[in-house]
Amino acid sequence: MDAMPRSLTLVPVGVGAAYARPGEAQSCYLVRADGGVVCLDLGAGALNRLQRHVPPEDLDAVVVTHLHPDHCADLLSLRVYMAWGPGAGRRLRVLGPPGLREQLAAFGGDGGLDAAFRFETLAEGPPTELVPGLRLTLAEVPHLSPTFAVRLDAGDESLCYSADCVANPGLPALAAGCGLLLCECTFGADEVPPGAMHLNAEQAGAVAREAGAGALLLTHCYPEHDLAAALAAARGAFAGDVAWARQDEAVAV
Ligand SMILES: [Zn+2]
Repeated sequence: MDAMPRSLTLVPVGVGAAYARPGEAQSCYLVRADGGVVCLDLGAGALNRLQRHVPPEDLDAVVVTHLHPDHCADLLSLRVYMAWGPGAGRRLRVLGPPGLREQLAAFGGDGGLDAAFRFETLAEGPPTELVPGLRLTLAEVPHLSPTFAVRLDAGDESLCYSADCVANPGLPALAAGCGLLLCECTFGADEVPPGAMHLNAEQAGAVAREAGAGALLLTHCYPEHDLAAALAAARGAFAGDVAWARQDEAVAV
């Protein structure tokens, strides 16, 4: 029996990559803390699944790691929900890279954006309080520029999310000592093709090992790669617990 109740919980809502397996939504991870509920990324299909867990208007913040559509496309639907649907009258706090508002407006028009959302621009810097008791730390990682890996700390509990990135020293540094590393594994157990700005399973395991993470949760894998082989490859590089993130299955951090 756990001596101490854990306060930080991760719920994978969408684990798909830039194209996804049947039934998968694209990137979206709900984080519940004592001080509030936040969502990391909101890719295509995620808004529907998110509503199994929380009314979207009850989110305290949405953090968008980068401007690829598999990480932010459903902000277009959430805009309608918040501006003219059940969320009308509230504005959601949306933290994202520079240009997020402009990208949404270019694709879906300007209407309702500022009624739906209160935009804040992400930047590296000292930790900030995202909601009471939950600290947000960012590290820019090499992918679409800029892309921010995210660390969340609540007391002695901590979670790090890789966002999308190619192997880099900044991610294990951000994740140092974290309880749970949620890491992209786009290419499974296979080689990362030259020029591709993503990780494979062995590299994800190496990040967890270098960071001294408590456990590793793999996510964001293209459908053609073998999930079991990827799990084995990650376990070969990291001695701690390794699993695939599964949609709707909460993980205590
Ligand atoms: Zn990406």
